[in-house]
Amino acid sequence: MAKKMEPGPIAYFEGDYVPIEKANVSILTHSFNYGTALFEGIRGYHCPDDNNILIFRLKEHVDRFVRNFSILCMNVEESREQIEQICVELVKRSEFREGVYIRPIGYKCEHSLGPKLHDVDSRFCCWIMKLGDYVDIASGLDVVVSSWRRLSDNAIPSRAKTVGSYINSSLASSEAKQAGFDEAIFLREDGSVAEGSAMNLFIVQDGKLITTPPTADILVGITRNTVMEIAAEELGIPVIERAISRTELYVSDEVFFTGTGAQVAPVRSVDRRKIGNGEPGPISKKLQDLYFQIVLGKVAKYAHWCTPVY
Ligand code: PMP
Repeated sequence: MAKKMEPGPIAYFEGDYVPIEKANVSILTHSFNYGTALFEGIRGYHCPDDNNILIFRLKEHVDRFVRNFSILCMNVEESREQIEQICVELVKRSEFREGVYIRPIGYKCEHSLGPKLHDVDSRFCCWIMKLGDYVDIASGLDVVVSSWRRLSDNAIPSRAKTVGSYINSSLASSEAKQAGFDEAIFLREDGSVAEGSAMNLFIVQDGKLITTPPTADILVGITRNTVMEIAAEELGIPVIERAISRTELYVSDEVFFTGTGAQVAPVRSVDRRKIGNGEPGPISKKLQDLYFQIVLGKVAKYAHWCTPVY
C-alpha cells in the first residue's frame, strides 16, 4: 500500500522553513547510518464546512514525541510549543485544502562514527504530505499472524517511534502483503498478541472491547487512547486492557485496528478464518463513525482535540 507521496512545497529543516528540495541530509549523518531518529505521524482532516484543516490531537502527538526523546538521549532546540506551531505553519504554508499527514522527526545529525546515543547532537525537522485513506476501512481487512515477532521492550522499545524499529514493521508488512494479505498481526516473544505493523489492535467479545496494554511491546497509540475513551464515554462499552492470545482473535465477535494512518479499520478475517460474519462488525462501525465525526470537529465535547490551521 505504498502511496505515491505528494509532499508539501515547504519543510522545516535546520531551524528554517525551506523549499522541500533543499531539505536534505548528508549520507554521513548518524541517523542515516544507525537509524537513530524518532518520528511522529499526525493527520490533518479537511473540513468541507469551512474549508479548514483540523489537526487531530496535535498536543498528544507532540507530547509523545518529546517524551520519547529521553529513550534516545535526544535534545533539540525547538520547544514543545514551537514544534506544535511548526506543524501548523507547514500546513498553512502548503495551502493544502485536503487531508494531510505531518511527519516531525528528531534525528542524530552529527557526522560521526559509532552506534551510540549519548553525546551525539540532534536536530528537529518536519515535512508534510497529502494523505487520504491508507488502508481499506470500508470492507474490512484480511490479515495474517506474522512469522516475525514484535520487538521486545528490552531490545528496541516499540513505545518510541524510532526509525530503526520500523525494519520490524517492514518485515511483517512485506511478508503479509507478498502473501496476498492486507496487513500483519505481530505476536510477542512470549506468543501473545502485540499489534499490527503500524497500528494497534482491538477485539470485541460479548460487547466488551479488549486491547493489549502499554507493557505488551506496543506503540501506545493516540488513536487507541481515543477509541478507548470514546467507547467508554460515548457508547458505554466496557474497555479492558489485557494480554490477548492468538486464538482469541479467531473466536472474537469483531477485530479492528486503530492508528493515525489506519484510522479505525475493521478486520474481516485472520489467518483465513472469518471474524464474525466476515464483514465489519457493528461496534467497529459505530466507533469508526464516531471517530470520523470527532476528527471533523463535529462533536463539541471533543472539539479541543482538533487544531484548526487556517
Ligand atoms: N503501532 C505502531 C507500530 C505504529 O506505527 C502506529 C502508527 N503511529 C500505531 C501503533 C498507532 O499509533 P497512533 O494511533 O498514535 O497513530
